[in-house]
Amino acid sequence: MKVIVVGGGAAGMMAAYAAASYGCDVTLLEKNEKLGKKIYITGKGRCNFTNACDVEDLFQNVVSNPKFMYSAFYSFTNQQVMDFVADHGTPYKVERGERVFPVSDHASDVTGAFQRALKSVGVKIMLNTEVKGLRVQDGVICGVDTVDGPMEAERVIVCTGGLSYPTTGSTGDGVRFAEKLGHSIATLRPALVPMNTKEDYIPAMQGLSLKNVELTIYHGKKKLYDEFGEMLFTHFGVSGPLCLSASSRVGKYLDDASLQAEIDLKPKLDKDTLDQRLLREFKGNENKNISNVLGSLLPKKMIPVFMEILEFAEDKKINSVTVEERNEIIRLLKHFPFTIVSLRSFKEAIVTQGGVSVKEINPSTMESKLVEGLYFAGEVLDIDCYTGGFNLQVAWSTGYLAGMCAAS
Ligand SMILES: Cc1cc2nc3c(=O)[nH]c(=O)nc-3n(C[C@H](O)[C@H](O)[C@H](O)COP(=O)(O)OP(=O)(O)OC[C@H]3O[C@@H](n4cnc5c(N)ncnc54)[C@H](O)[C@@H]3O)c2cc1C
Repeated sequence: MKVIVVGGGAAGMMAAYAAASYGCDVTLLEKNEKLGKKIYITGKGRCNFTNACDVEDLFQNVVSNPKFMYSAFYSFTNQQVMDFVADHGTPYKVERGERVFPVSDHASDVTGAFQRALKSVGVKIMLNTEVKGLRVQDGVICGVDTVDGPMEAERVIVCTGGLSYPTTGSTGDGVRFAEKLGHSIATLRPALVPMNTKEDYIPAMQGLSLKNVELTIYHGKKKLYDEFGEMLFTHFGVSGPLCLSASSRVGKYLDDASLQAEIDLKPKLDKDTLDQRLLREFKGNENKNISNVLGSLLPKKMIPVFMEILEFAEDKKINSVTVEERNEIIRLLKHFPFTIVSLRSFKEAIVTQGGVSVKEINPSTMESKLVEGLYFAGEVLDIDCYTGGFNLQVAWSTGYLAGMCAAS
């Protein structure tokens, strides 16, 4: 069986390996000068290539279409990925949150394992070869058109990725090919991406990172997101793990509305406990400036912001703070407000949400339901996950399943 795999990223390398190991004559076409260009920048250059959680727990980390992943995750599990990488010369280690990395901390060693694997099963690799379109005859795939001319194949697996970090080669080509053949495309949006905010006081705190806070995001009265963790203020808005995960949940609501958000800066303390704490801090300091006392409750960069929102004069003394004002301080500590206006661009997004709709893809094989012999795998599909190695696991699992099924 002659198989062409379009795109030599994570999903494409795995698909090519699987198809070749099941006996196919496989050609892997990659438009870049090397394979897996995005892999080099994953996990801050260390490549968090999967997550060592129970297979069952993979599903709750998939944001879009977790059920579609059932066959794929079980056809090539996270343990199989770890074994695969280790068997091809790259030992791995498991870190906090079950995140899996190469022992060397070099993403290039993950790509290295795949290059050795591809060689071992005889995959033909053509670099600097951009695919311009798919060739279909009477509803059956018959090849691709490349920059250098047409190429024939009985099966084609499209693994061109999404739209994020386009400099790595992920420019949405596969989505366009699919659309041209009649596939529905779920709206494409940046995900795991920082967010722009409205208020001037947010950029005033740029560089400040908050740990152990609770972030809640509302659409009107509806609570869209509510999690604990770490976040960061930037010159344009908010980032950090909590906000990146939030972006995957709330992105679609930002298409036509701004969203109200609030931070509980003291999630472990209730209002009464906070009040008692404030009173303790105030005692014996009645003639001091309130801004000095706030320093025991807040990071330094937040103090001027609190003073501004509370409309306190810079030299306001503790002895002038009324009960209502004390309640206002507590309210702000528990409900620090800001407005999210939009997502940042694909250039800064770790993944793409949306893509080739899974409704027209067979979840047991990854084959198109519209064109015989055409398969899709990886981020080109409408699947995205939280951080932790899950997005690459989707690429490996769907790539393996597509490659294996293309061979049959
Ligand atoms: C900064 C960053 C850090 C990340 N860190 C992690 C992490 O630590 N763990 C994790 O699980 N996920 C991480 N991700 C997400 C993960 O990298 C992607 O989800 C994954 O690479 C998707 O794999 P893919 O093979 O589907 O697509 P891609 O990796 O995007 O590969 C697609 C390939 O297809 C090629 N291509 C595209 N069009 C054509 C064409 N027309 N002809 C020929 N070739 C073509 C591209 O050049 C590219 O090589 C990170 C992403 C980014 C941007």
